[in-house]
Amino acid sequence: METLLFISPTEGPLSKNALEALASTKQLADSLGTTFSVGLWGDAPQAAADGSAACGATKFFAVTGGEFAQSRYTTDASAAEALGRAAGATIIIGPACSRWNRVLAGVAHRLGGRPDSHVTGLSVSEGAPAISRWYYRQRMEGVMTRTQRPWVLAVESGIAPAWQGAPGTAPVEAVGCAPAGVRSKVTGIESLAADQQTIRPEADLLFVTGAGWTKKQPDGQIKVEEAQKRILDFLRLSRASLGSTKSLVDLSGEGVATLTFLTHMNQVGQTGSTPRHPKGLSTCCHGEEPHTVGWRFIGERRAISLDANCGWARGKADVLYVADAFAVMEKVNDLLAPKAVLDGDI
Ligand SMILES: Cc1cc2nc3c(=O)[nH]c(=O)nc-3n(C[C@H](O)[C@H](O)[C@H](O)COP(=O)(O)OP(=O)(O)OC[C@H]3O[C@@H](n4cnc5c(N)ncnc54)[C@H](O)[C@@H]3O)c2cc1C
Repeated sequence: METLLFISPTEGPLSKNALEALASTKQLADSLGTTFSVGLWGDAPQAAADGSAACGATKFFAVTGGEFAQSRYTTDASAAEALGRAAGATIIIGPACSRWNRVLAGVAHRLGGRPDSHVTGLSVSEGAPAISRWYYRQRMEGVMTRTQRPWVLAVESGIAPAWQGAPGTAPVEAVGCAPAGVRSKVTGIESLAADQQTIRPEADLLFVTGAGWTKKQPDGQIKVEEAQKRILDFLRLSRASLGSTKSLVDLSGEGVATLTFLTHMNQVGQTGSTPRHPKGLSTCCHGEEPHTVGWRFIGERRAISLDANCGWARGKADVLYVADAFAVMEKVNDLLAPKAVLDGDI
């Protein structure tokens, strides 16, 4: 009989990704006909435990303390290890957040188990728990089992609905943990202002920009500044997440006039990322990789291209607008602006 443990660091209430992993854990426990427990760590994990009090877990474990509030390898790994031992877990499931992704392999090693990251599905195969993962840059999906235990997993975001339920009072069992050799101290966090942060995993729409935005246009002009304005206005008005083709982000390294807000972090595709969003809109983009691989997990896809014969846009988009993206996005921004003013966004 498997013993399942949902695990997560806490910085207040459980994140959306954590609630999705909790729902996946619960579903796997139901499918296996077994129970699961919850293990949390942080400054005050009781609040997160109370928020998920009705999730059906048989036990709640927590490592509590100010030193566990900060994202730091030593304390995160020690807390997770202590929780895994306290629960006697054979399968430990956490959200693919930066903190869990970083310590997952170390925790598995400490517990004598095996880790797997980028899990996109949990199921039962011939009576045994199984996971789904994508291989070869998200071109093939595999389902695999392991005999080694504990099996320590990081579940990707967007693969299950987040657990929802009424808060209550969770009977939390305190777990002792004294991490050795704590040397790093987090003295502050530097992050981009919300408006400069163009990668938004929670957004409903992925907006993909291609190199066409920086190419000579039918009137013979290059209009990078205008492109920049159209794109930034759209992101501000729609709160979409920004993806880009490799060609476009590479331009910035070549000293060519380009879109200054793009980095390689925005790149989607075979050598970029494969984000999950309900909808996608690609603009001025011809490449195979962004269309086939970058869009792998996008629900509904549309593209704007001047090239009516672009095989990738035609083959991979549900709707292709053969049009000038400059003109289309100007019109779209005009339509969005009054709504954004009403919503108080601008
Ligand atoms: C090993 C390898 C890995 C790669 N990995 C990736 C990857 O991860 N991600 C990736 O993106 N690429 C990747 N590439 C590159 C990829 O093959 C393409 O070269 C690239 O994606 C093309 O970029 P693009 O579509 O932005 O530009 P282009 O091919 O230059 O296409 C620009 C398009 O914009 C259109 N256009 C121009 N002006 C307008 C306008 N005003 N309105 C509408 N449309 C307009 C043009 O008609 C054209 O179709 C990889 C290549 C290799 C060899």
